[in-house]
Amino acid sequence: MAKASGGSVGAAVVDSVGWIPGGFVNIYTYREGEETYLIDTGFSRTAKPIVRAFRKANVPLARVGKVLLTHHHLDHMGGAAYLLENASVPLACHADDAPFVDGRTKPRMPLMMRLFVRTCPAPVAIVLKDGDRVGPLRVVHVPGHTPGEVAFYHPARKILFSGDSVVERKGQLTLPAAKYAANLGQAVQSLDRLRALDVEVLLPGHGVPVTKGVASLLDDLIQRAPSQFLRGSRT
Ligand SMILES: [Zn+2]
Ligand SMILES: [Zn+2]
Repeated sequence: MAKASGGSVGAAVVDSVGWIPGGFVNIYTYREGEETYLIDTGFSRTAKPIVRAFRKANVPLARVGKVLLTHHHLDHMGGAAYLLENASVPLACHADDAPFVDGRTKPRMPLMMRLFVRTCPAPVAIVLKDGDRVGPLRVVHVPGHTPGEVAFYHPARKILFSGDSVVERKGQLTLPAAKYAANLGQAVQSLDRLRALDVEVLLPGHGVPVTKGVASLLDDLIQRAPSQFLRGSRT
């Protein structure tokens, strides 16, 4: 019989961090003491991967104390409204993304997405700003991909949930496609903020978790980012 493994949900990355792959986007759980945090909610409007992972771990969905959104994009907040309705979980996101999350402002989306994807607004209970603490996690504002993009940093454990401020692809760190960025120049600048943190475990919004050589992978990205991502916008 499978053990409840201390109530952790998702594939264990390191102690108390669970990874729930939600198709092409990642959802994470973080457990400290009695509190379980859900970082992002995936694309599914019925939070399918999350519901499945909690069921598999034999943990009630109501165990989630807070849902922390890294940013307002649909692949990260798709399941938020469902979780609010079905588990009465308070939702937290940065002030600059809150109008997109709660539906006051329509997000800017590529045409194909606008045609086929229905937005799914959700009320924001906790409006975050840079430097706020949510339990053991510190809010790090890293704008660019969206105005209110944030990473969640655990200083004692050197864990960073980076959302789309930096993502993993084929063993390297990179930025998401330029067409999804609100301000690419700002996104490149924000990499310096991430580099200033002492990170051993990087949990990106896309790709796979990185548990080795985070600093040198970030250095590599910071070095090539201006020519790789800003060349077109400079001329
Ligand atoms: Zn995004
Ligand atoms: Zn994304």
